Amino acid sequence: MDCIFCGIADGSIPATTVFSDDQVVAFRDIHPVAKTHILIVPRRHMTSIADATSPADELLLGHLLFVAKDLAASAGLDHGYRLVINTGAEGGQTVGHLHLHLIGGRSMHWPPG
Ligand code: 5GP
Ligand code: ZN
Repeated sequence: MDCIFCGIADGSIPATTVFSDDQVVAFRDIHPVAKTHILIVPRRHMTSIADATSPADELLLGHLLFVAKDLAASAGLDHGYRLVINTGAEGGQTVGHLHLHLIGGRSMHWPPG
């Protein structure tokens, strides 16, 4: 399968990695929308959060969030940040491998576009 984020996870596509463990890889977004913009992805390919089904997937999703809040603390985002999972076409998802955006370093607006 031709998947950019699987390639980043297995090291065959370069990225600026900021964290990795046996389950997830976190790297800087190539087109950052704020001073801090990190993507946290599971190593195992999953097209979107809609594909999460098993208890193992439930644990994995919790782990993604835990890694994100730890990275936010490490980045010094003490005044807040935003975590986003775009899902499917109407959700604005452009890469078909589940990813959690950690965005911070400026004020965010609501509702999102
Ligand atoms: P989505 O729109 O699917 O939620 O987010 C996909 C994100 O992946 C975008 O913010 C885009 O800039 C980022 N992205 C796409 N291709 C690459 C790549 O090859 N490397 C990195 N580091 N980020 C990418
Ligand atoms: Zn993938």
